Amino acid sequence: NATSATVLGLGAMGSALAGALLTAGRPVTVWNRSADKTKPLVGRGATAAGSAAEAVAASELVIVCLLDDASVREVLKTVSLAGRTVVNLTNGTPRQARELAEWVTEQGAKFLDGGIMAIPPMIGQPGAFVFYSGPKDVFDTHRAAFDTFGGSNYVGEDPGLAALHDLALLSGMYGQFIGVLQAYALIRSEGLSAVEFAPLLGGWLTAMSNFVQEAAVEADSGDYTRNVVSNLGMQAAAFENLPIAAADQGVSSELLAPLHQLLLRRAADGHGAENLTSVIELLKK
Ligand code: NDP
Repeated sequence: NATSATVLGLGAMGSALAGALLTAGRPVTVWNRSADKTKPLVGRGATAAGSAAEAVAASELVIVCLLDDASVREVLKTVSLAGRTVVNLTNGTPRQARELAEWVTEQGAKFLDGGIMAIPPMIGQPGAFVFYSGPKDVFDTHRAAFDTFGGSNYVGEDPGLAALHDLALLSGMYGQFIGVLQAYALIRSEGLSAVEFAPLLGGWLTAMSNFVQEAAVEADSGDYTRNVVSNLGMQAAAFENLPIAAADQGVSSELLAPLHQLLLRRAADGHGAENLTSVIELLKK
């Protein structure tokens, strides 16, 4: 059956993926190391396989969503992949995806790697999307199944590109999340309410979000001298107040100190008159 699929791994995410396929009316075979996690899906019409090998034998399309690369390797080496299309939606690195692509292809199967940009309750809802990379024809063949998870964003033939895009988004997200926590630690140091402060922070981050687009233009061109209104030297000097105030308030400055060092080093290297984006030269290898 061309529209059937197998899902290996029924953690929070694998269960959501299998659920989305069932909702779309597709026959789904599921397997999980701990067999009890198959029950809710079987209740919705899925077929539980007794082993990963049995599950892989049931469908041409095999979606893999396990904990990490090591668990994917451990499970896939127990099955026969010949003639299958393996779509690995387990979080990993570009190198892991490229190495897995090579190994899976050697087994006589097709391979796509993916990066899920959603939490499990968002799967199948607006706002969820998944990056895919690998052979375009393989992506096109199974696109309708992928679209049941959310938006399907194909990013290129190199199997490492989905993980690269995924981790780049997460790098931006964690930089912001950790900054939010630093802000709340500072507010809480005076016993003030983070909840009352939150709208100010949310509004500020929104107002500053033009940086995403502006920095992108400079990251591509390598020219950090356009429309300089807040030069790096000034920002390096002002930034010093962040770790000092944190220390004075009894808040850790361990997150801020390395950021301050980057600004100072770039300014000392003679780039103080440029935009903040200039610091990317210290991050690139
Ligand atoms: P869970 O911890 O809920 O599930 C982990 C799954 O991996 C379980 O099915 C578990 O089986 C299985 N597993 C772990 N080790 C092995 C092993 N050695 N052999 C066989 N099976 C194994 O994680 P999630 O479902 O939330 O996440 C799955 C993947 O999706 C991860 O790579 C995660 O990074 C990614 N992801 C998750 C998101 C989220 O918000 N949850 C968001 C985006 C991506 P068992 O039940 O037997 O323990």
